Amino acid sequence: MTNKAIPIYRPFIDKTEEDLVNDCMKSTWISSKGAYINKFEEQIKKYIKADYCTTTSSGTTALHLAMLALDIGQDDEVITTNFTYVASTNAILHVGAKPVFCNIRSENLNIDVDSIESKITPKTKAILYTNVYGFLCDYDRLNEIAKKYGLFLIEDAAESFGARYKSRMSGTLGDISTFSFFGNKTITTGEGGMVLCKNLQHYNKIKKLKNQGNSERTYFHDVLGYNYRMTNIQAAIGIGQLDKVDKIISLKKSLYNNYKSNLENKVRFIKELEGTEPSYWMTPIIFDSQSKREKVEIKLKENSIETRPLFTPIDQLPFYEKSSSETANRIYKLGILLPSYPGLSDEDQNKICKIINSII
Ligand SMILES: *Cc1c(COP(=O)(O)O)cnc(C)c1O
Repeated sequence: MTNKAIPIYRPFIDKTEEDLVNDCMKSTWISSKGAYINKFEEQIKKYIKADYCTTTSSGTTALHLAMLALDIGQDDEVITTNFTYVASTNAILHVGAKPVFCNIRSENLNIDVDSIESKITPKTKAILYTNVYGFLCDYDRLNEIAKKYGLFLIEDAAESFGARYKSRMSGTLGDISTFSFFGNKTITTGEGGMVLCKNLQHYNKIKKLKNQGNSERTYFHDVLGYNYRMTNIQAAIGIGQLDKVDKIISLKKSLYNNYKSNLENKVRFIKELEGTEPSYWMTPIIFDSQSKREKVEIKLKENSIETRPLFTPIDQLPFYEKSSSETANRIYKLGILLPSYPGLSDEDQNKICKIINSII
């Protein structure tokens, strides 16, 4: 039997995106001005029901702009968790502020709201949280704490595009929210991102900073800016993707449920928060021992099936200070991510489940 490789992810793109990109090329508007940029921003704004949004060159630059818009800098502390993608926490370091790690909840790998208040000091300026693997955090309680202590709430929604909290879309669950449109995210623009916010001043500041600090007067830059712009070509891809987003999410949801019904007796799945609809970005499975995880990892690899480890806790990275947030340190060794791309066939998925079931 030949082993057709099964990757962890593959973007859901076809001729639609190709035609849009070709059209963009023909128009010669290939840089960061053009009709597709405006259209993409308008369509996302409508889909997410955001007050303001603007495209960026990546999710990383979107997070950096969020920090800058809120004037977070030296001597400020930002409460976050040690279980997220490194770009999220790096944004805090990029502006010279200090990340303060609170705990995560083992049942959903998301921020443990009960562990936040003890970390608040007079220097705390914001809470930055990630909806890990597309499963939503307890926004109402996060918002309550943020309001009570006068903190900004920043939502890293890179993994939760299309997810819903009660009737609200992820991307509106913070003073500022950010998306990533990297190749393996729910919708992609190749590389790209977005900042969404509720406050007009924040929005204007973000637009200015992402565009070299431009003012009304040409070549007069009144603040230190950046080039964090998305290109019209990227936005063209995004428009094609947005057209398919409901299909993408429904395919990912059925993949997730299929994994769950096949493996739930053997491994642990994320417990979704009541009243939320995840984006099902990735399917994490958690074993009860490290040796089981390793066995499965190896066996899947032998069958050319790609998996990913869970995030290494951020405070284990050499340029971060160690924290006492233990849950992530314990759990990350026990889990893996399974192939979670919308085009994964039933046959391939069944093969993956069969292999896992055969060894544990
Ligand atoms: C992907 C991701 C980012 C970074 O986005 P890029 O577009 O790759 O810069 C940030 N935070 C989280 C949680 C992510 O998953």
